[in-house]
Amino acid sequence: MPIAIYAGSFDPITNGHISIIRSGLVAFEKIIVAVLINPGKTPLFSVDERFKMISDALSNEPRIEVDCFDGLLVDYARRRNVQVVLRGLRAVADFEHELKMANMNRHLYQEMETVFIMANDYFYVSSSLIKEAASLGGDVLGMVPKAVAQKLREKFFPQEPCQNKE
Ligand code: ADP
Repeated sequence: MPIAIYAGSFDPITNGHISIIRSGLVAFEKIIVAVLINPGKTPLFSVDERFKMISDALSNEPRIEVDCFDGLLVDYARRRNVQVVLRGLRAVADFEHELKMANMNRHLYQEMETVFIMANDYFYVSSSLIKEAASLGGDVLGMVPKAVAQKLREKFFPQEPCQNKE
């Protein structure tokens, strides 16, 4: 059964990620969405929060498994016995970095192949840009799932008065 791993920080998951996952399901029987635990970075959302936002956004898709991992992606792939990594390509700027990563991963794990899917409508969306816009009060609905937009508001504007109160 062809399985692919779609790994990333997903801090938070965006409609761009979801669109790549849905396209990936055309090519793969199953996709493991793997949240990277990176102790060197301070993410906005905890691993648990990121895991839950992904699970909720993809709850209607039985061919998706959500997992998390730390360390090298190739080691995780070996452990899971998966040889394909799925990546999304947005712009030319992504290309150089992705080319290096794909070849580094192949060097570390010879059987590993990276499959790219071209970004579509959400090519301009990135988790970092979403956080930047949301932190300044921008409405990011339409670029992230509704529950994610809500979580972003809670993170950046925790004191916001309830709409129903005076
Ligand atoms: P990283 O932390 O490695 O940058 P991300 O969580 O941001 O990873 O993204 C994981 C994967 O999703 C990467 O392959 C990235 O190129 C892709 N991706 C992110 N945003 C989009 C988007 N808007 N459209 C298509 N692919 C995307």
